[in-house]
Amino acid sequence: MRILLLGGTSEARSLAARLHPGVTVISSLAGRVPDPALPVGQVRIGGFGGVDGLRRWLLDERVDAVVDATHPYAATMTAHAAAVCTELGLPHLVLARPSWPAGDAIVVRSDVEAAKTTAANGFTRVFLTTGRSGAAAFKDVDAWFLIRAVTPPDAEDLPARHQVVLSRGPYRYDDELALLREHRIDALVTKNSGGAMTRPKLDAAAELGIAVVMVDRPPLPDGVRTVASVGEAADWVSGRS
Ligand code: NAP
Repeated sequence: MRILLLGGTSEARSLAARLHPGVTVISSLAGRVPDPALPVGQVRIGGFGGVDGLRRWLLDERVDAVVDATHPYAATMTAHAAAVCTELGLPHLVLARPSWPAGDAIVVRSDVEAAKTTAANGFTRVFLTTGRSGAAAFKDVDAWFLIRAVTPPDAEDLPARHQVVLSRGPYRYDDELALLREHRIDALVTKNSGGAMTRPKLDAAAELGIAVVMVDRPPLPDGVRTVASVGEAADWVSGRS
């Protein structure tokens, strides 16, 4: 039994650890992050080369099934995997961690809409956590931004007034509270990543009454089979071997 496990998340690493060594798991990372946390078992790093490259790779490697445990916003990889697995008749599962409840957040559909909402509400000191590619949409918004990302955003794409903090979760509630206070943040802009590792910023924002603008998740491809937990994904794989 050979599984391609599309990763880049803590759930993917947990699943690899759970299946190894009974199942041959080949974990795949995009290669965006220097010094990534590596799962146990085989690992390949880098894009496949689109749908054609992925199809070729799956056939060459004689993969029996694909588990997509990428981040909920990795929509391109998820679309490619769903399309190729359907075409090849390969068993395919998406491990989609549960969303956070939106609560009082202003929910928007894109980074561009989040930028418009930030400007329209007149927020002046914004904690922007949508990642290196999300920050570009805010380039022309007249506010000060604390931009937190794992890898450095391109400087020419950033709003004029900003500070970049490079870091990787997990984050602690007390630290998030202190950060929001220190920078006198009046709005948090975030994805709905779900999970516990980056959740404390939302709890800290709620405690301080700070507005939240939440970029909603991209939809999953039609008809994909999904589970919400590592345990369910492990059961699905076990059921196929
Ligand atoms: P994306 O926009 O969906 O993917 C863009 C391209 O990157 C894909 O077409 C594919 O290239 C390559 N790629 C993405 N994930 C890959 C994987 N696991 N293995 C091999 N190639 C991969 O993805 P993204 O949003 O940039 O995310 C990239 C990676 O970072 C993912 O593994 C994801 O789990 C992780 N991540 C993303 C976020 C986020 O907010 N988006 C947050 C945390 C972690 P080819 O077309 O050449 O195959």
